[in-house]
Amino acid sequence: MNIAVIGTGYVGLVTGACFAESGHDVICADISEPKIAQLNRGEVPIYEPGLEDLIQNNAAQGRLVFTTDTTYAIQNSEVIFIAVGTPEDMDGSADLSQVLSVAAQIGKVMNGPKIVVNKSTVPVGTADLVGLEIAKFTNIPCDVVSNPEFLKEGSAIEDFTKPDRIVIGTSSVEAAEAMRDLYAPFVRTDNPILVMDVRSAEVTKYAANAFLATRISFMNEVANLCEAVGADVNNVRRGIGTDQRIGPSFLFPGVGYGGSCFPKDVRALLRTSEQYQSPLQIIAAVDRVNHHQKQRLSKKVVEHFNGDIKGKKFALWGLAFKPKTDDMREAPSLTVIKELSELGATFVAYDPEATKTAKVALKSLADKVTFVDNSYDALNGADALLIVTEWGEFRRPNFGKVSSLLKQQVIFDGRNLFEPTTMKRLGFTYYSIGRQPVVKDNNA
Ligand code: NAD
Repeated sequence: MNIAVIGTGYVGLVTGACFAESGHDVICADISEPKIAQLNRGEVPIYEPGLEDLIQNNAAQGRLVFTTDTTYAIQNSEVIFIAVGTPEDMDGSADLSQVLSVAAQIGKVMNGPKIVVNKSTVPVGTADLVGLEIAKFTNIPCDVVSNPEFLKEGSAIEDFTKPDRIVIGTSSVEAAEAMRDLYAPFVRTDNPILVMDVRSAEVTKYAANAFLATRISFMNEVANLCEAVGADVNNVRRGIGTDQRIGPSFLFPGVGYGGSCFPKDVRALLRTSEQYQSPLQIIAAVDRVNHHQKQRLSKKVVEHFNGDIKGKKFALWGLAFKPKTDDMREAPSLTVIKELSELGATFVAYDPEATKTAKVALKSLADKVTFVDNSYDALNGADALLIVTEWGEFRRPNFGKVSSLLKQQVIFDGRNLFEPTTMKRLGFTYYSIGRQPVVKDNNA
């Protein structure tokens, strides 16, 4: 099949590369000339494990083409995936301008019947809007399908090629058949393709993200309670996660959820609920809890130093919103750096993959943050180590080296990477989330 993917970000690139890998001819189009030039040189503009090989192999085979010529992509495809951004608008709703501009372009240059597929995360009703926008410019019939994407950055190719389920929203028998055919290579283990009406498919994506965000905010509140009452959230997490009705995933407390999806999708769903006067009170609380949780680590730092942060230098491990990505959108590290630098702190930061994107995200705080290429280089003479992202390489550091490089042996761990008993034995003052702090007794 000839496929166009419009938008070559995290979702578009993975979608295009995976469909090409299963034998289709894919044209990926983006308005960003530097991005397309990079892709045509065989370079991948984002960090996503396995993606570079997949792109290079399929481009070499001629099945994957990159262009800024959206018209060419539209006119030479039967199925057109829209995978552009839907960032948060001023009022919390999803900004649909990129999606609707692609829809208008499709309508203007369409040269035959097409199946248009919304892969971007869009509020309920958007497929109708896309259809209306296309119809402003053409009489050629066109099915608009909702096909929300559930991949996770860091394991995107695995998620795309072995999805738990594929959701297809359409009332057209032909469009459903074409989509089943497209996705057939990825459902060989009997993982389901769920065909439903368009509106249900659109709501499914937001409901899934809001539910996962709810689990995180729920556990963060339980963690904060554990701190207050002298309990250990790790024990509580195991205690509830082993209940089959609850399950173990998404129960890890931390410094709040970030990234390009959960924060904006939770707020967009809230805006939809307001527009339809159908309150989502739990989801509203999830958003509020997350806002407070992002401030939790800096509060612990301020309390430890009795408010005297001016002139302190902190080592920071982890900038990306989660491991195995370079995505800095709504990363909790941004909140920590902003809040503590406002009180006079500076940072030496290390992240295995996100330095480049972090430099852009932290441009306004450029004089407050120095970036280094090695986790230990960040520690030199620092007043404390702050851990914000749980990259694998942070889990088993050489503690002797950590201790000797730090000026003060203090660690604030926003991801619960270490055991408090071990940290006590090693002589650190150690703060984590939902567990009792280990405070080094300097007179002992
Ligand atoms: P992104 O910002 O990484 O990429 C979007 C791309 O679209 C950019 O390269 C941009 O240049 C391009 N673009 C914008 N307007 C365009 C136009 N008119 N024509 C051609 N290209 C255009 O976004 P992303 O993270 O890939 O997310 C895309 C969508 O998928 C969003 O709705 C997001 O919510 C959703 N989603 C994202 C993830 C994720 O993990 N990132 C997962 C599931 C769903």
